[in-house]
Amino acid sequence: MFPVEKIRADFPILQRKVNGKPLVYFDNAATSQTPKIVIDAIVDYYSNYNANIHRGVHSLSQEATDKYEQARIILQKHFNAKYAYEMIFTSGTTQSINMVASGFSSLLKKGDEIIVSALEHHSNIVPWQMLCEKTEAILKVIPMNDEGALVMSTYDELLSENTKLVFCNHISNALGTINPIEEIIEKAHNVGAAVLIDGAQSTPHMKVDFQALDVDFYVTSAHKVCGPTGVGFLYGKQEWLEKLPPYQGGGEMIETVTFEKTTYAGLPHKFEAGTPNICGGIAFGVAIDYLNSIGFDAIATYEQELLEYGTQELSKIDGVRIYGTSNKTSVISFNVGEIHPYDIGSILDKLGIAVRTGHHCAQPIMDFYKIPGTVRASFAFYNTKQEIDVFIEGLKKSIIMLS
Ligand SMILES: *Cc1c(COP(=O)(O)O)cnc(C)c1O
Repeated sequence: MFPVEKIRADFPILQRKVNGKPLVYFDNAATSQTPKIVIDAIVDYYSNYNANIHRGVHSLSQEATDKYEQARIILQKHFNAKYAYEMIFTSGTTQSINMVASGFSSLLKKGDEIIVSALEHHSNIVPWQMLCEKTEAILKVIPMNDEGALVMSTYDELLSENTKLVFCNHISNALGTINPIEEIIEKAHNVGAAVLIDGAQSTPHMKVDFQALDVDFYVTSAHKVCGPTGVGFLYGKQEWLEKLPPYQGGGEMIETVTFEKTTYAGLPHKFEAGTPNICGGIAFGVAIDYLNSIGFDAIATYEQELLEYGTQELSKIDGVRIYGTSNKTSVISFNVGEIHPYDIGSILDKLGIAVRTGHHCAQPIMDFYKIPGTVRASFAFYNTKQEIDVFIEGLKKSIIMLS
């Protein structure tokens, strides 16, 4: 049995009430909640060894540097990167993607092609559009089908020797679809293109092995993985990180500076200009250790149970349409008849139930289904079937009030 009650006790926020009702938090795809061990690590940093890293000779600075670099190694080991310096700390997924897009602006030429998937988050569409405007490269899109899966036969047709980059999320935040990234990576490599995978939705739910995937770039945010906001990483294969120019100039990223010429520091510092989110990086490592102490296999099995139960109970309600029915993680995106998702979300909030409504930063998906948005319930390993029951009752109430 998955020890969910014991796990729930690790999360102080799960004990609170919202609008007088016990909180039911089903907005995990937007951000995950934070276990006490991570909160304690943040308090410990600011209480006991807050100092700037890498440059100091004094003890606090060395302690902070050691902890920060240990966190990098925790991430390297967890994701099986070949070298710790391939793990670049960033402010999160969005920044990581922009760093790669910005770097590629000096590597692409007119007529080169970039392929993205139709299931992308806006943060994985807009930087490529900006890159294409700058370089006159061409953006192509792998379409999706009604089940919310990518049409892979079209991907085969889009690939050519002009393809330089392929971008895809591992798991769609709007629908939960698990994309066939092994196939996407292998086929891109066959034409010599690099691949960046957005792992913001996969890293909370599964163990990812960068070397086994042979992926060129992989990014995520700590706050989706029980860590704090404002920190994440860009993983890049050494040869790619060496090819890309630095993203920002500043302290920490240089080796020598004169007014005539600056030489850049080696990896990872070349991409880590300025004082980073030191505490956030350390807490990110603690969050990964915490999840490993529960075990990703156990988490995945339990979350699939929640997904099946939630899907089964929702499907019993008249007028419910669920979007995204292919192989997926614990995300249920749905609408009820013609009721506006926002209205359902507002009533559920009055009942203490947090879901997300709207386009989920993925307007092209909503356009595909010709809907303004959906209600999205996304489950984490600290959610329960009882909470799903409360949600279903609340949903039934809101349907009666709104029809
Ligand atoms: C949350 C999310 C992002 C954006 O992450 P930030 O932490 O806001 O930078 C990008 N892609 C996917 C798939 C996401 O779920």
